[in-house]
Amino acid sequence: METEILIIDKNAVDEEKIARAGRILQNGGLVAFPTETVYGLGGNALLPDASRKIYAAKGRPSDNPLIVHIADMEHLRPIVTEVPQSAIRLAEVYWPGPLTMIFNKTDLVPYETSGGLDTVAVRMPSHPVAAALIRAAGGYVAAPSANLSGRPSTTNAEHVIRDLSGRIDMIIDSGESDIGLESTIVDFTEDVPVILRPGYINLAMLSEVLGEVKIDPGILDAAAEKGIRPKAPGMRYRHYAPKAGLKIVEGERGQVISRIQELADAAAREGKRTGIMASDETAGYYRADVVKDLGSVSRDEDIAHRLFDALRQFDDEDVDVIYSEAFDTPRMGQAIMNRLLKAAGHEVIYV
Ligand code: AMP
Ligand code: MG
Repeated sequence: METEILIIDKNAVDEEKIARAGRILQNGGLVAFPTETVYGLGGNALLPDASRKIYAAKGRPSDNPLIVHIADMEHLRPIVTEVPQSAIRLAEVYWPGPLTMIFNKTDLVPYETSGGLDTVAVRMPSHPVAAALIRAAGGYVAAPSANLSGRPSTTNAEHVIRDLSGRIDMIIDSGESDIGLESTIVDFTEDVPVILRPGYINLAMLSEVLGEVKIDPGILDAAAEKGIRPKAPGMRYRHYAPKAGLKIVEGERGQVISRIQELADAAAREGKRTGIMASDETAGYYRADVVKDLGSVSRDEDIAHRLFDALRQFDDEDVDVIYSEAFDTPRMGQAIMNRLLKAAGHEVIYV
């Protein structure tokens, strides 16, 4: 299949181009599009065949559900059985934005989209191109991240082209995603809301609106990844993995630096190409074939923004092993470490 690449300026959305992309979705085709979190691989959420095509294009296991993207609040009611008051309050503050909420679904949402579950995940993105595309498609766009299953999520159109060119109808290029990590997922089907995936909207921000919030133990815990029935199936599958082996080194800063350098030196003596992921504060201390500085720990939004791109760049540079510092920063640390731990298959060296 030939994949058309369409450039759309997010500050001056071309309605004619959007209408074309919307028609592809209405007819059951697939369009990758930008959002403020990461790029999404969109299909019409109400058409079972479109969802099947999404799974096939990504090579994604079909029990890993898709998030349904809407652009207007009136589109929420038809797809969910009830919306608790607390969810409405949260939507008032954070929709449109990097927040996904899970509700019980109505029959309008096919099981192909919900991964066989009776619940549906819903998000309203703030990206102007995403919002326009969803409206042009008829209101409901199912979209997981636009990467091949198991690879790091895509934060620009070049990443998407690498993974999905030839497998989908169209890729819309609107430059870099602002946030660079996927949405925060909150489950509203239990008595107390539960965070299933941490993101830009962190625990403190959620607690301020909701009061009591639980965190699914699977978020940072290796054991739960191997669990039987994950609520957020992303928890079960190996995710975000670069081709090289990745290990995280965690502990006091000075000891982390010396251990990472020792490990990299030992790998280099074995003839391996080495990579290191560090921060502004530490990058200057390291010697390796590739040292990536993700930014200052005092601006952890930058670290989050660069994480997936850095993992992909290590692949391009053909490194054999990557050692990363842990990024336990206050604002985004939980979201960053959740992705990094998955990318590392939970290989952590404590010093
Ligand atoms: P992705 O867009 O690749 O981040 O994948 C979407 C993720 O949303 C899935 O991997 C799940 O973790 C989560 N998700 C979607 N629908 C549901 C649902 N009904 N219940 C729990 N988690 C969900
Ligand atoms: Mg994904």
